[in-house]
Amino acid sequence: MLVNTKEMLIKAQKEGYAVPAFNIHNLETIQVIVETANQLRSPVILAATPGTFSYAGRDYIQAIAEVAAKRYDTPIALHLDHHETLEEIKASLELGTKSVMIDASHHPFEENIKRVKEVADLAHTYGATVEAELGRLGGQEDDLVVDEADSFYTDPASAREFVERTGIDSLAVAIGTAHGLYKSEPKLDFDRLAKVREVVDVPLVLHGASGIPFEDVRRCIDLGACKVNIATELKIPFSDALRKFLVENPDASDPRKYMEPAKKAMKEAVIEKITMCKSDGTY
Ligand SMILES: [Zn+2]
Repeated sequence: MLVNTKEMLIKAQKEGYAVPAFNIHNLETIQVIVETANQLRSPVILAATPGTFSYAGRDYIQAIAEVAAKRYDTPIALHLDHHETLEEIKASLELGTKSVMIDASHHPFEENIKRVKEVADLAHTYGATVEAELGRLGGQEDDLVVDEADSFYTDPASAREFVERTGIDSLAVAIGTAHGLYKSEPKLDFDRLAKVREVVDVPLVLHGASGIPFEDVRRCIDLGACKVNIATELKIPFSDALRKFLVENPDASDPRKYMEPAKKAMKEAVIEKITMCKSDGTY
């Protein structure tokens, strides 16, 4: 059964590891992630953006994730990544989604609180958990493009007030990570993360972990990040392997054959990221 992310994140927080949240796009990417996570006895979060739902269909993704969760005995959550409207979130809650992110981080503080609280109140009646973001990550995720100049870091005191007034279950922090590929070496504000951890008791989420050196992600986990989001670093090996196969086999036309090397390459990346999160062997 698909679960919400409450228990898995609190266990991770207590035991000092992070649950990886991998962005999925279709049947194949879901298969690779859940199969690998189960083999490594890791909990896992399947994250889908509004763009993924408009591509694949909310009901299709929900159904595939439910089948996956029935197949395996390790905890699997389907999570709405960077959703911005109550209507879309409600549509998924009604389909049975148990984990949502409402991203109102581009609104001013009071408006952010208002929008997030509205979603949290609704989602909790469905037994779903809610993540929100304070601060603003730069970079691009789907249609969401944030100029570096418009990004800003999470303020610890505001974070505490934000969590208390919204009733959210986890908080995404902005400490210098960005979505997509990094143009220059990212500099993370570890002290800020530690300060937020001190004053906020809900699990903290690190977005934009693709391209952050292994040791830096580990340090964030040690400082209290217990959900780590990864999208780009799975998409690249999948696409590279697919491209290589099709170039080397220009007559290939069987998806069952040309998807295999792509899935295999993605699996390696999933293993690497689960190991980085230290979530293997926790279930
Ligand atoms: Zn994100």
